[in-house]
Amino acid sequence: MRPAALTDDLLDGLRARVTAETGATYTSTAVFSGGELATLPESTIADTHTAHERAARVQQQWAATPLAERLAIFTRFHDLLLRNRDTILDLIQAETGKSRRDAFEELCEPALVVSHYVRTAPKLLGPRRRKGLLPGVITAAELRRPKGVVGIISPWNYPFTLAIGDLVPALIAGNAVVLKPDSQTALSPLHGVDLLYRAGLPAGLLQVVLGDGPAVGGAVVDTCDYLGFTGSTRTGRLIAERAGRRLVGCSLELGGKNPMVVLDDVRVADTAKQAVRACFANAGQLCISIERIYVHDSIFDAFTEAFVAETGGITLKAGYDYGADMGSLTSQRALKTVSEHVDDARAKGATVLTGGRPRPDLGPYFYEPTVLTDVTPEMLPYAAETFGPVVSLYPFATDDEAVALANQTDYGLNASVFGRDRARARRVAARLRAGTVNVNDGYASAYGSIDAPMGGMGSSGLGRRHGAEGLLKYTEPQTIGTQRIAVIDPPRWLPYGLYTKVMAASLRLMRRLGIR
Ligand code: NAD
Repeated sequence: MRPAALTDDLLDGLRARVTAETGATYTSTAVFSGGELATLPESTIADTHTAHERAARVQQQWAATPLAERLAIFTRFHDLLLRNRDTILDLIQAETGKSRRDAFEELCEPALVVSHYVRTAPKLLGPRRRKGLLPGVITAAELRRPKGVVGIISPWNYPFTLAIGDLVPALIAGNAVVLKPDSQTALSPLHGVDLLYRAGLPAGLLQVVLGDGPAVGGAVVDTCDYLGFTGSTRTGRLIAERAGRRLVGCSLELGGKNPMVVLDDVRVADTAKQAVRACFANAGQLCISIERIYVHDSIFDAFTEAFVAETGGITLKAGYDYGADMGSLTSQRALKTVSEHVDDARAKGATVLTGGRPRPDLGPYFYEPTVLTDVTPEMLPYAAETFGPVVSLYPFATDDEAVALANQTDYGLNASVFGRDRARARRVAARLRAGTVNVNDGYASAYGSIDAPMGGMGSSGLGRRHGAEGLLKYTEPQTIGTQRIAVIDPPRWLPYGLYTKVMAASLRLMRRLGIR
């Protein structure tokens, strides 16, 4: 099932955006059918070096372009994003197999990111006066310099959001970018790149390489001046080590095993309905989706019944319209992991309340939304990230117990607390070890609040996207200290011992007066 938008002309334009010289190609899969989707150029390590050099050549001029001029390009890009949304959604669906509703969510984040940073970048990137060493005599200013060439390596699950949403702030900050998306899902990010050029981005500033993760991705890590990575914790550790060898900074947005806590005062039916979206959006292939639900034991049975009924009502199908709640998994590998997790739990005594089987009748990688209970620590879905439509329910007795259960993981990406008493729910939320916590929602409230940082604690990553850090991480802070009158060295006539006494007295006085 090739989507209407994927014409030969469009595909030729996207291919031309890839830096690849050898003529080697690979073919991606049309996920709904399992057939061929598109043949794209494959880059080599040498191509990645070429991409870096081309990007570096134009970066300094870009950084010297007045910020207002740079931002005007992104305002035009925002407009193009929304006008071309049908094409973008078609490409995302074709290469991921997700439902159109989920694809639409993918479009929203980059649009929000663009408008947020267009508004806030002048203040965040502008020079800031800082308190100088001596008031009136020494002044200090903090500047923000771009890193240079930023590498962005992105995964297949949200190929458009996680490539475009993360590279836009790097460009706004004055950097060039070399992007390496996952090869299966390169069409939608390539289209985003194309739209950025149509909006006026200088030629060469944003390069794309495609190919093997360790080889081509590794070359991006080995050449960039900063790396923004989104993907698995396993790869994240390798990348951090590799970047560390060159003392190049990186942000790592990694995996999760995200918990939801359902307190005893919730409206059960409403909560069950919202929990369904929290667990099964993008068929659970969402780093911040919920895979564990802890429910107060006084409402465990009622919640379970309502949740299972809601889950059973999910419309699962392939198609480029808005008719499906949930689409396909993206690959045979994802299907294998999900099947293994459910089969392992079932074999060891877990109860499958609904779902629990693949649906080849709908498409090669479809799997039913699945709810488990009686899951114990020896079973795969207890602690390992399934990254699919599988959630386990557990009862708890007290808020303290819920917090302890939710926190018993090395991950710390996202969490959720449902409670009618919002103050109490927020108190529980603040005790959870997760970079984002949503009260009375699964993930969108925190993720969609672009003014606030998003990222993981523990094995879920380093650094943050969104918020001030989501822009400033792509910059080097530089301090310019200016001495108006020479005061730091003692005058020749003053013995050094006496000078230290004067300095110590000044430090004491400045602390007392609250000056420094
Ligand atoms: P992955 O780590 O296998 O691959 C991610 C990207 O890294 C791909 O482009 C891949 O080609 C590249 N890559 C692989 N090995 C590499 C290496 N050695 N050096 C450089 N690049 C390499 O991850 P995946 O399976 O594609 O993505 C799923 C994972 O991503 C899940 O664990 C999910 O939770 C996580 N994720 C996290 C976030 C977040 O924001 N925290 C968002 C989406 C996905």
